[in-house]
Amino acid sequence: MAPSEDTNELDRAPSQGVGPEYMSSTEKPTATVSTQVSHANITILPQTPQLIALLTMIRDKNTNRADFIFHSNRIIRLLVEEGLNHLPVREHIVTTPVGKTYNGVRFEGKICGVSIMRAGEAMEQALRECCRSVRIGKILIQRDEETSQPRLFYDKLPEDIADRWVLLLDPMLATGGSALMAVDVLRSKGVPEERICFLNLIASPEGAANFAKKFPKLRVVTAFVDKGLDEKNYIVPGLGDFGDRFYTL
Ligand code: URA
Repeated sequence: MAPSEDTNELDRAPSQGVGPEYMSSTEKPTATVSTQVSHANITILPQTPQLIALLTMIRDKNTNRADFIFHSNRIIRLLVEEGLNHLPVREHIVTTPVGKTYNGVRFEGKICGVSIMRAGEAMEQALRECCRSVRIGKILIQRDEETSQPRLFYDKLPEDIADRWVLLLDPMLATGGSALMAVDVLRSKGVPEERICFLNLIASPEGAANFAKKFPKLRVVTAFVDKGLDEKNYIVPGLGDFGDRFYTL
């Protein structure tokens, strides 16, 4: 389902008919789908009817907190499942109960999650559901009031993180300032950029470009690239402040 050239005049984001394959294009409602970007290191989830419906729910300012959490968790689960596809596997042959062999694969190497507090912590549950007893580190970065630059306040990471693949968790990739600093922290602990996979729900084109430029070997998996940023660096159309909507509103 590749986005068509059809462009919505109001937001200049691509739109396409969204619905099951068996429906004709005239029967499908038109929805805004992800902006496509050309960076080789970014993977955008397939713009399926299900994903677009889930995103519509969490973007709606009238969605209550319980529904926001439920539907966000479903998207995060899709992101984690896709993120795991970016980890290497090796051959694994098994024998089935009927005595036949099956040529399969199994994951190679150790992983851990690292959440960027506080919004990234909302993504930990889905990671735990997919990877039993996974280790999860935390990084707290906040904007310095005086300099407006991101500042590292706290990090607590698995001691052997340099030997692990890292799934970095933060739901919104706006300018990328905090996430880029988080990657610097990981690299200072010995994690090579090619062993980091950054999972987020919505990215701005600016944030995606900043990541591609600074860390071209780091994989970014996102559900959607939005139109851009507003003057306060909120993603637009976005969904507002993810942490507030998930934890406090
Ligand atoms: N963080 C958010 O929660 N929302 C944005 O739009 C940007 C950063």
